[in-house]
Amino acid sequence: MIVVMQRGATQAQLGEVVRRVEELGFRAHVSQGEERTIVGIIGDERPLAAEPLEALDGVEQVLPILQPFKLASRDFRSANTVVSLNGVKIGGREIVVIAGPCAVESREQIRETAYAVREAGARVLRGGAFKPRTSPYSFQGLGREGLELLHEAAEEVGLPVVTEVMSPADVELVGEHAQMLQIGTRNMLNYSLLHAVGRSGRPTLLKRGFSSTIQELLMAAEYILSNRNYNLVLCERGIRTFETATRNTLDINAVPVLKQLTHLPVIVDPSHATGKWQYVGAAARAAVAAGADGLIVEVHPHPERALSDGAQSLKPEAFVKLMAELRRVAEAVDRTL
Ligand code: PEP
Ligand code: MN
Repeated sequence: MIVVMQRGATQAQLGEVVRRVEELGFRAHVSQGEERTIVGIIGDERPLAAEPLEALDGVEQVLPILQPFKLASRDFRSANTVVSLNGVKIGGREIVVIAGPCAVESREQIRETAYAVREAGARVLRGGAFKPRTSPYSFQGLGREGLELLHEAAEEVGLPVVTEVMSPADVELVGEHAQMLQIGTRNMLNYSLLHAVGRSGRPTLLKRGFSSTIQELLMAAEYILSNRNYNLVLCERGIRTFETATRNTLDINAVPVLKQLTHLPVIVDPSHATGKWQYVGAAARAAVAAGADGLIVEVHPHPERALSDGAQSLKPEAFVKLMAELRRVAEAVDRTL
């Protein structure tokens, strides 16, 4: 349910609505828009039916949110959410490119990549320290050491970083080293992790589960938002289909669908979506044309030696070329890059 306040309602009237909602045992989420202030009432709403909230001063109307995702929906917040990482704004007019290796492998590797992607125009550095691998025998990431190397390289080049967190116990540690936490495709349904990341209040990148629907992604987002963490960006990274020519199938439809349903920024990962560096450029250009707010791209200085995902990693030269192409596509859709 949402309570729409009248234009010009006072802070005192708003405070009274919030107080009443909380007295009834609900969480009140206030969304202060340019035009209107909205109070989202979150919880099992059935007992509210008998409550005459409309009678409170300053209230214009009380409306149901029909979608099962409440705080993620455009009914709750109509304007786009912008998530800021050290001044880099995701969800505005600029298309933000995040780039870096799949995994942090060594000081030299992450440093070299950080310089290369920054030179090419990436605004955020990526690199995994805790790697969720399909096989327990594959490289699992450098863990704490990887976080430190990532942090060091990012500071040196002056970029914010995003890196994956796999367990609620590591949220604090990862948060100390990164400006943005990533929840990977395999953990989209890990509810205790979603709660922990939500409670941390830290900017978060939530990737779509490879077998999850768009609605399930938005319900996972709801776990984070319901902990009052609105610093959330969604990522389409390809889903599993019957197709075997590519690692996953990029669901390009997800971009306009999500942009319509939610106020949260939406980015695309063309690297995991295709699994082959040869197709990354086309998928990335399509994502920008479709309205994505950004991209997350794997880049490695020596893909043939990469400890993970070498086949889908762009060499720095290919990344430079892609950025030039993306600038032209961005301009065509009235965005900057
Ligand atoms: C990643 O971005 O490092 C990653 C593992 O991606 P995904 O969770 O989408 O597979
Ligand atoms: Mn990867």
